[in-house]
Amino acid sequence: MTTQALFREDAYLTRCEATIAAIGDEGILLDRTVFYPLGGGQAGDAGALVLSDGTRIDIADTRKAKFEDATPDDALHVPAPGQDAVLERLAAGESVLAEIDWARRYRHMRLHTASHLMCAVLPYPVDGCSITVDYARLDFATVEPIEREFVETRLASLVDGGHRVGTEWITDDEMAARPELVRTMSVKPPMGLGRVRLLRIEGVDLQPCGGTHVRNTAEIGALRVAKLEKKSARTRRLVLELAS
Ligand SMILES: [Zn+2]
Repeated sequence: MTTQALFREDAYLTRCEATIAAIGDEGILLDRTVFYPLGGGQAGDAGALVLSDGTRIDIADTRKAKFEDATPDDALHVPAPGQDAVLERLAAGESVLAEIDWARRYRHMRLHTASHLMCAVLPYPVDGCSITVDYARLDFATVEPIEREFVETRLASLVDGGHRVGTEWITDDEMAARPELVRTMSVKPPMGLGRVRLLRIEGVDLQPCGGTHVRNTAEIGALRVAKLEKKSARTRRLVLELAS
């Protein structure tokens, strides 16, 4: 089976009704979900699954399923520790309300969209990327020095510009024919579903991405460069934080 990944069409969905498809040692598989699984540098969602009798199962993380025959969209909802009694009486076929920790996810969305702006500010290949609730960390493959003030000024101008953020789809074949669209060396385009999602920030950036983003750069708000360091002779690491 394939989990229907509702966050892909609408990143602002905070909850959905779903049915438990399977329960394993590593997590709970649903037929549809609003939980984003760790991938493309973006952290997995946390939240809760609420059973029909009101019992809450706290979800600490979401991961892509690794079992045989798993599709790229199959997501395992990983329960927080200490809930064995509830999990033991859980059965496939049961209905749940799947609800993400929206405050946490919205920070992921703002920081993730900010990392796309970073790609527009600095024209270097990205060879590492991590987006968490607290920061976006990007490693740029370059020997050029990077100036904090330049980065912060350019980012502020792109945020204030209120650029629209939207998605477009191309086929796997079209993606393979346009390798120049790929900015992140360490993250492969989300291929294997027959089509690839492109994220366009109007007038700013276009690249394949399967993550969750805000609708307009203005939603990102103020950013600051928390860290800027030489990670290696050929890599500069930059850590961005939300200033509010
Ligand atoms: Zn993205």
